[in-house]
Amino acid sequence: MKIKELVFRAADYLAKHNISSPRLDAEVLLSYLLKKERIFLYLNWDSVLQKDTIDIFRKLVLKRSKHVPIAYLTGHKEFMSIDFEVNEKVLIPRPETEALIEATLSRMLSGQPNREWTAIDMGTGCGNIAVAIAKSQNVRIYASDISEDALSVSKKNAKKNKVEKSIRFLCGDLFKAFNGLNLSGKIDFIVSNPPYVSSADFEELPADVKQYEPGIALDGGVSGIDFYPELIKGAEEFLKPHGFLIMEIGYGQAEEIKKLVSLRKSFLEPEIVMDYGRIERVVICAKI
Ligand code: GLN
Repeated sequence: MKIKELVFRAADYLAKHNISSPRLDAEVLLSYLLKKERIFLYLNWDSVLQKDTIDIFRKLVLKRSKHVPIAYLTGHKEFMSIDFEVNEKVLIPRPETEALIEATLSRMLSGQPNREWTAIDMGTGCGNIAVAIAKSQNVRIYASDISEDALSVSKKNAKKNKVEKSIRFLCGDLFKAFNGLNLSGKIDFIVSNPPYVSSADFEELPADVKQYEPGIALDGGVSGIDFYPELIKGAEEFLKPHGFLIMEIGYGQAEEIKKLVSLRKSFLEPEIVMDYGRIERVVICAKI
């Protein structure tokens, strides 16, 4: 069978299974399998593929038709123009999290030049936040996760991107991961993309997310904002004066989070940053 027939048939099949970008997904899966760029498919539209390649492609398309995310099928996801390895133990990096990186980098850049920042990345997952920051700044990052499986992915990503010396990975529940490290009052930046999907919203998530991504990385409890009080309280203890707590939030959560921050009295009025979709996505809290 020719490449073009394979792509058309796969796209039709995916469309019938309610995949929202069937043609693109078919092309991405086939070019991944052939270890080529997508353009290769068009340049070789009439080439005939071998039977064993077609068989593997069919299996991938079948999985995609069951809504397994493309990133889990290819094992990769691009974030901040960096390639990250992913598997079903970690949340797939989202473009909206780039707003959190930009907010953090801009504050690092507007501080003293050439200094080494000390940071915590809470709930690092595949390590996309820690790695993206470490690749561009002089930082020492403590990246934690409650999941050992997630940490084995983030460690790989740090190595692959040659920032493993800048990041120390720790396993544990929230700030407990740093017990015994004597970090109180020593941190310049705490960044986090915690789970923030409410129980009600969780039910409404697309099948790709709900069935395949780790619930532990998404589930923010009944209210969706279960993790923020702990983050804010911990930031009070771990941040230096004038340090920053920078957190990703979900749609419509900005006002509640602002209220939680103002209760603690240790922070200036938080600044809210929008993502590319003009949704309030990042809360920046400067410690007094
Ligand atoms: N943005 C993700 C989603 O809606 C949620 C990520 C998170 O809970 N931190 O799928």
